[in-house]
Formats: sequence, C-alpha cells, structure tokens
Amino acid sequence: MEIVFVASEMVPFAKTGGLADVIGSLTREIAKDGHRVCVFIPKYKKVTHEPYVLKPVLEEVGVPIGSETETGSVFECAFNELKVFFVGRSEYFDRDGLYGTPMGDYPDNDRRFAFYQRVVLEALKRLKIKPDVIHSHDWQSGLIPVYLKTLYQSDPFFVNSKTVFTVHNLSYQGSFPPDSVPVTGVSWSEFRYERLELYGKMSFLKGGLIYSDLLTTVSERYAQEIQTKEFGCGLEGALAYRKADLYGIVNGIHPADWDPKRDLGLAANFGPRDLLGKRACKEALQNQNHLKHDLEAPLFAFVGRLVPQKGLDLITRVIEDMVASGWQFVLLGTGEEEYHRALRIFGERHPNQIGLNITFDSHMARQIYAGADLLLMPSQFEPCGLGQMISLRYGTIPVVRETGGLADTVQEFNPKTGKGNGFVFSPYAPKDLLNAMRRAAVVYRDQKSWTKLMQNAMACDFSWRVSARRYLDLYERAQRKPLKV
Ligand code: ADP
Repeated sequence: MEIVFVASEMVPFAKTGGLADVIGSLTREIAKDGHRVCVFIPKYKKVTHEPYVLKPVLEEVGVPIGSETETGSVFECAFNELKVFFVGRSEYFDRDGLYGTPMGDYPDNDRRFAFYQRVVLEALKRLKIKPDVIHSHDWQSGLIPVYLKTLYQSDPFFVNSKTVFTVHNLSYQGSFPPDSVPVTGVSWSEFRYERLELYGKMSFLKGGLIYSDLLTTVSERYAQEIQTKEFGCGLEGALAYRKADLYGIVNGIHPADWDPKRDLGLAANFGPRDLLGKRACKEALQNQNHLKHDLEAPLFAFVGRLVPQKGLDLITRVIEDMVASGWQFVLLGTGEEEYHRALRIFGERHPNQIGLNITFDSHMARQIYAGADLLLMPSQFEPCGLGQMISLRYGTIPVVRETGGLADTVQEFNPKTGKGNGFVFSPYAPKDLLNAMRRAAVVYRDQKSWTKLMQNAMACDFSWRVSARRYLDLYERAQRKPLKV
C-alpha cells in the first residue's frame, strides 16, 4: 500500500507531546512491513534535522486561502525507511512555537493549518504519490478527509484514496469562528450541526470525525470513554454517529528508542537482571536536582505538560504530604503559568526534597525515566499516555489514575501473587492519589517485592508490533469501504 501520514509533529523533527513520538515510531513499524510510507509535517522554525538533510523538492505550490492564492514550498528528507516531507511558508511556520505561545494559541491557526493541508494534497499530486490511505491525526489535519469528500471528490487522482483519522486528544478541537469557513475553502453548506459546526464554530477535529472513512483513537478504554458525556467534550453525539467505524488501538513505543541497556544519555545502563545501574541513575538524578543523597527515600517523578488534564491539581495537593513522609519528587514540564508559580513555591520551600525543571528537555526526560523509582500520572483523562510505557521500560513504576490508556496498560501490583506492574487509583481526589503512593512506598521498603515489581515492569511489551498490525488491518478495511459516505 501507498500510505501517507499527515500530522503536525514527528520525532525527531518537532515535538510538543506524545503525537510526535507516535508519528516517529508507528510509521517506521508500518514501513518495515514493506509498505511505502511517507509523512508530512509543517516546516517549523524549530524543525531539527541534523544529521538528516532537507532537500527542496517543490516550489511555489499555490493554494487558495480565502480569496487569495498563497504559495508554499516542500522539502524532502529520507528518514530510516520513510520519506518525510516538510511544508514551508515562513510567514506561517517560522515562529517559536508550533501552535502558540505560553499566552495562548496563534490567532491565525485556522489559516496556518488550512494552508498546510491544502498544500499537502497539491504536493501529493505534483509528486505523483497516489495514496491508498491517507492517515491524518488530530485537528491540525482534520480537514484532509473533509477536502477529499468535498473539493477533491471528483478528482481522479484521489479516486481510490481512503482516509483514516486518529484522535490523540479529543479536548483539542481546532474550533474557529465561522469566518474560517471561507478561509478553508469549504462550502458553507458543510457548516451545519451534522458536519463541521460545533457550538457555533467550525471545528477541524469534527471534520476528521465526520468525514473520514474510518476513525481510531489511541486506546480501547478511551474509545469507550469518549462516547460518554463526561469525556466526549461535546462530540459524544458525533462519535455515537460514527460508532461502527470507531476503533481503539493502543499506542506503542519503539523499543530501541527507549532501551535502558543501550541508552547513551544515562549515568549507567541497566537491565532487568542487572539493576545496579539504576541505582547509579538515581544517584545522578538526585545530584542534578540538588536533592539529599538518599537511596532509601522513594523518588517520585512527573514528566509532562503542565495542564489540568495531567492531574496537576492533585499533585500540588499531595506535595506537602510527600515531603512530610520523607519522599523525594522531581518534576519536568512546561505549561500553564499558574502551575509554574505554585510549583516554584514548593520547590523553594523544600529544596532538598523537590527538584523542579520547568522546561522542555528530552535528554532530561530520559534521565528521569531511568533514575526515578516511581512516575506519577494522576490524569483527569488520558487518551493513551506514553510516559507510563516509557517508565515501565526503565523499571520506574507508574502510579496512575484508572482512565483511558492508563487503565489499559497499568495493573495494580499485588505483593502476595507478585502480579501487576504499578499502582492504580480511581476517584480523582488527592487522598486517593496519596493512598496509591503510600501503597507504593510500602512495597518499596520490601526489596524482594520491589525487585519483582521492577522486573514485571521491564518485561511489559509495548512495542508497536501488535498495534501496527491492527492499523494495517484497518487500512485494508478502509480500502473495502464504498466510495462515498
Ligand atoms: P501528551 O501527548 O498528552 O503530552 P503523552 O504521555 O502521550 O502525553 O506523551 C508525552 C511525551 O512528551 C512523552 O514522550 C514525554 O516524555 C514527553 N514530554 C512531555 N513533557 C516533556 C518535557 N517537559 N520535556 C521533555 N519531554 C517531555
């Protein structure tokens, strides 16, 4: 099959969160199966490409945006078994952030991403890449299925192209005022409740949900959850309408990208049968964060975006209890200013027990996954979550709320049976998080049980093998779908 991924971020070129990891690893797994795979992302200022080389392949690709024709260029880069294409237009993508600044989203995100998607479709034609499947992701590429079912409906070039759309996070909806409809070039007749309209706005995400041939999200639990009012973010009706075409496929990680035995970024390497290196990583982490040198104190960590979704309200409420219990805490993340402020106060109050890193730093993330004892993921909701999978690879035990992909990948450890890989709590309340942390601290004191737990964690297989197979089955299923919805 000729499979085209259209996304807004990809490791190693541009990343704000898990979407980038997924695009960087799932595509390689699918290409390994002998399919021709290419990926499109925008050419942001922050695109890092060393040692890869970006070569210009198309210039002056003109597309209508509102009443104007705007032009972009396309660059190509060979990356493992894939081709990656970058859509450039400095006015739109030569900015510090991918989607906005810490103060909020860029006000022209509708233009930026409508432009991007229209250039992708024109570029495919100019490059003569005839997709069997176009797999797009989240609101930034939610219009691809819309365009194919409207503006490009009778274009013979795309007559056999089917669309699969993956929701990585339903709460980011790409909703814009109705003025965006003519900007995108979509007809006003599509701006209605059954199609693109969402609470009076045009939602790019809803476009993906309604117009794609098949629909997926990133865990089975989340696929169920988003059909309910509690998790549906106002789209539960649209999802119920597409229920027969909605699949939950859990994300994976690339085992070679996250391998404690070979990771060059660590103070020492280690594996399930040789855990000595993990102690060295903990020591290094304590040093870096100016924490008390104490290998007996359980070291909890958090790595992620500092937004309400990730359970920051619970974390800030249990910090004093952590300190009082003699535990340590290292945090790495950026996000909302209000959390930065609150966390800094705790950090200043307890410098020997709390290490704060309010930044985005992939290298430091590795050191934390390897050096911490436990990783906190008390999310309000979590479509899949990669942090728990990565930490499990490094023998760092996740403490998670039972929601979405966290519920599908982490099971409570039972010291009697020796089964389980983490600690799980359910009601979204500080006391429930704290109780789970206390259960963890009890097991931590029993070295034999803890070693068993670390070994269970490191034996988990979250490679893409099974999930990539499921995507391929879906691509085949999409190809069998009749031509029109
Ligand atoms: P989400 O996609 O909702 O942000 P995931 O758990 O799916 O959450 O993926 C987050 C990814 O981003 C992980 O690879 C994690 O290590 C990484 N990450 C998040 N915040 C940071 C940060 N501040 N520095 C480095 N890596 C980060």
